[in-house]
Order: sequence, then C-alpha cells, then structure tokens
Amino acid sequence: VLISMSLLFLFIATFAGHLLAGRAIIPLKNSFFRQREFVADASHELRTPLSVMLTSVDAIQTDDENRISQFSGQVLDDMKGEIKRMTKIVADLLTLARADASADTIVKENFDLNLVADKVARSFKPLANEKGIRLDYNGKNKLLVHADRERINQLLVILIDNALKFGRQGGEVLLSVKQTTSPKRTVYISVQDDGVGIPAEQQKLIFERFYRIDKVRSREAGGTGLGLAIAKWIVEAHSGTIKVESTVGVGSTFIVSLPC
Ligand code: ADP
Repeated sequence: VLISMSLLFLFIATFAGHLLAGRAIIPLKNSFFRQREFVADASHELRTPLSVMLTSVDAIQTDDENRISQFSGQVLDDMKGEIKRMTKIVADLLTLARADASADTIVKENFDLNLVADKVARSFKPLANEKGIRLDYNGKNKLLVHADRERINQLLVILIDNALKFGRQGGEVLLSVKQTTSPKRTVYISVQDDGVGIPAEQQKLIFERFYRIDKVRSREAGGTGLGLAIAKWIVEAHSGTIKVESTVGVGSTFIVSLPC
C-alpha cells in the first residue's frame, strides 16, 4: 500500500509540475513573441518617415531658389548624417528582429564567391583610399559555394567596413578567401587589419548586440553596434563559425568558416 501510495503521489506531483511549468512558460513565450513582433513592426514603420525626411532635406538643399546660410547648410548636413545613421540602425534592427522570429530565411544558390568578394572589395576601394588604407583581395580562382549570396555579400561588407573603421591610417586591410577539401569541404573567409586591435576579454563580447568597445569612435565612424551580431547570425544560419584573433595595437583578423 505504501509503495503504491508513493507511486501515486509521484505521478500526481510530476503531472502537476508539468502542468504548472507549461502554464508558466506559455505567457513567457507569448511575451517574447510579441516583443519580437513589436521590434520588427516598429522598424518597418520607421523606414518610410526616415526616407521621406531624407528626401525633404535633399530637396531643401538642392532648391535653387533657397538661399541657405552657411550655418543652416551645416545644420542640414548634420541632420542628413543623423537620418542616415538612424536609417542604418532601423535596417539592422529589422534584420535581427526577423532573424529572431525565423522570418528571415536563408535562400541558398550556387555562386562564385570569388566574384562576390572581388566586387565588394572594389566597392570599398574609394573609402579605403580616403582613409589612406591599402585594401587588397587575394582571390583569383573561381570558388563555387552553395549559400545565400545577398547575406554573404552583407557579411563581407560588415567585416571590411569594420576593418576600415578600426584600421590604421597608412595601414593595410587584406580580404582572403580559400577552401580546404579534407576532411570536409570548408570555405574560409578572413579579413585582416593592422589597426587598434581588441582586448582579449572583449573578443567574445563584440558579437553581442550594441556592444562597442569605444562608443564614441564607433558612432563617429557611422557604426550601430549591430554589425557583428548580424555577421554572427548570417554565419550560424549557414552552420558556420566566426571568430576573431587580435592583439591590441597590432591588429585583428576575423575568420569565418563555412561548410559548403
Ligand atoms: P560597429 O557598428 O560599432 O562597428 P559591430 O557590431 O560591427 O559594431 O562591432 C562591435 C565592436 O567591435 C565595434 O564597435 C568595435 O569596438 C569592435 N570591432 C569590430 N571590428 C573591429 C576591428 N576590425 N578592429 C577593432 N575593433 C573592432
């Protein structure tokens, strides 16, 4: 009798436990879902007024009948800079909110990574020149991958943009792409700079949303603090890994490996 009583008690306790835990989790799940949905909706809604504001400022600046003082011209330029910054934050937030909600799916296709990398590197040449940094890309051969072309493009943009932002004037940024075939075919993308570097204790944290080592420098360089969080999402959505090797005052190398 004692044994069957204990078993019955155990059964009731387990059942009640499951029921309570389930009930406690459902509202939590709903609230997470609503929060993500809210961020996605808010980001989406903010895009239109921002683009209207940018066009309006442009219209004022290019109106020939408008005699704008030097001071007003400067104010309008500053406004434009801030609107562009906010547009980038909103776009980045929307990307992450969609990723959280699994609404942004990865669409894979076969393409030549060498072509994409070459194009991205070339698009950054003017910015690199402006900053006095030599930007090199070492790929020459065709490198077929099965991945999301747009997202891989975005990943390269984030890494090169950072390397130029935190690179050294008169220094060098090197983008490399290579593959290994054994034991499994893996594609490696690396972006190396000889800039400020990242302290060891912060090397993991920089992949978190809004984490910036030097907020002022990042802000002045047009950063949002969301770039590496997006990069990490893109890489992990391809079942790959991303890491950084860095020494303060020497430079940093971001290494992405993608199983292809
Ligand atoms: P941000 O928009 O500020 O660049 P990220 O998420 O891309 O945001 O990067 C987060 C932070 O990581 C940066 O603010 C910077 O402190 C650090 N970081 C990223 N890339 C580099 C790099 N190549 N060299 C030094 N620090 C870097």
